[in-house]
Amino acid sequence: MYILTDNYLKFGIAVDPVEPEKILHVLEKEEIELKAVITTHHHLDHAGGNKRISEMVKNLSIYGGDERIESLTEKVCHSETIVIENLLIKCLHTPCHTSGHVCYFIAGDTSREPICFTGDTLFIGGCGRFFEGSAKDMLQSLDILSTLPSNTKFYCGHEYTLNNLKFALSVEPNNEATLQKLEVVEEKLKRNQPTVPSTIGEELKYNPFLRLDKNTVQLHTNEVTPEAVLAVLRKLKDNF
Ligand SMILES: [Zn+2]
Repeated sequence: MYILTDNYLKFGIAVDPVEPEKILHVLEKEEIELKAVITTHHHLDHAGGNKRISEMVKNLSIYGGDERIESLTEKVCHSETIVIENLLIKCLHTPCHTSGHVCYFIAGDTSREPICFTGDTLFIGGCGRFFEGSAKDMLQSLDILSTLPSNTKFYCGHEYTLNNLKFALSVEPNNEATLQKLEVVEEKLKRNQPTVPSTIGEELKYNPFLRLDKNTVQLHTNEVTPEAVLAVLRKLKDNF
């Protein structure tokens, strides 16, 4: 969950507010009015709070790119710009994790970097699971995100950073940037600090899924046995 606020105009937008009480508590304390919800995808750990928050806040617009999103009021499509108060948010359709997954990009200005909410498509050091798309879909989606301005700060749906970086290192063992990032991340986690956000420019240095054109990224195929694939599939089935 994230809250984006305009502290001058006193309005806010919630991103995937799966626990509405927490979101509304913060907004109330800051005397900020919630205007809209933007939803990255229909999974319940992202959209599962939409119904309740729309009951708690009157006239709330709920944006998303998939009919399966709870309490959706505005369906968006690729490249569409939505306007909430004085804020322009560009919708980027990034299918694969789910077929209707949307990332939300807000351009920067002289005082602020651009930002993007990437849901379960792009994580720090990794990408989301392929539930409703192919590897080709994911690559096309990641291509869209990797061409955003390199100083774009992105906020992902989960913090799988440490494990992702360990995987990154396993497929590109000599990447100095991965080692450096791993060190920074371990330090942050030790202090109980978030590893989010990262920037697109940083990801291009170590995220293997954005570096498939580099021949230093190699999948060690001997580690991917049929048993290993089956084990992963079984685990996915158990979880969903
Ligand atoms: Zn998901």
